[in-house]
Amino acid sequence: MPKDLPAAWRVSAVSAGEQVALGSNAARIENAPGKKELEVATQSLLSRLAELQEAFHADGRHALLLVLQGRDGSGKDGVIKSVYGAFNPTGVRVAAFGPPSSLELKHDFLWRVHQVVPPRGMIGVFNRSHYEDVLAVRVRKLAPETVWQPRFEQINHFEQMLHENGVIIRKCFLHISREEQRERLLARLDDPHKNWKFRLEDLDDRALWDEYTDAYRDVLAKCSTPDSPWFVIPADEKAVRNYLVARMLVDTLEAVNPTYPAMQQAVRDAARDFK
Ligand code: AMP
Ligand code: MG
Repeated sequence: MPKDLPAAWRVSAVSAGEQVALGSNAARIENAPGKKELEVATQSLLSRLAELQEAFHADGRHALLLVLQGRDGSGKDGVIKSVYGAFNPTGVRVAAFGPPSSLELKHDFLWRVHQVVPPRGMIGVFNRSHYEDVLAVRVRKLAPETVWQPRFEQINHFEQMLHENGVIIRKCFLHISREEQRERLLARLDDPHKNWKFRLEDLDDRALWDEYTDAYRDVLAKCSTPDSPWFVIPADEKAVRNYLVARMLVDTLEAVNPTYPAMQQAVRDAARDFK
């Protein structure tokens, strides 16, 4: 069993302005390795991720923000469960974004988001994010176009500011097909342990499938930048999805090349003859 898969087996970032075809085909990878093989390879990536995170936390020069977006049932919770297991919980925080509260609605849309951006040394995972403000808000017509349209640029400025302040941002759109979502929602109906995840709004959103596709396509075209790129993760198969996200995170942290800070000379001197 290979410890890792060929290096080519990774997703590349969406290019600025790219119109990504988000059909059913893009939710799967043809000739993907088998599930078992992928799970073994993912485990070895997660071990590497654990080492990298320890060093990243100690290094403290950067923060890492992983943004997860996707339709209901696309596996945002599943990805979090998969990668979170690799991390030392001290260095990672998850934030989930539901409909804004009345207080949050009185502020600008980035207010609630900015508060939970991870500080340096930490990894933050967003389960949904400020992108809902150009997705759900647009598709469900919660605000007029004059409000949501300028947000693409506002988001780019916000993310660029974070980047310049040491926050490494990586964004994943977990892309499932309409057929796969149907299966997963049906499973939520049948499984008493999953009933709670199924909400009335999920059916409304499913009925707006094409509108969401257009909105996601705009997000990818307008808000994937070299410093804060988007990745489209084919997510119909959970093992493929988990592998590709882990692969991307390992690549990201290896590029940072985190190092353990050396002990300060004063501490070393003082510790020489401590009792
Ligand atoms: P879930 O992630 O399944 O628990 O659902 C959270 C719900 O909150 C989804 O239906 C999102 O579309 C919705 N949501 C998140 N952020 C916003 C927002 N800024 N405006 C409106 N709805 C939102
Ligand atoms: Mg949901």
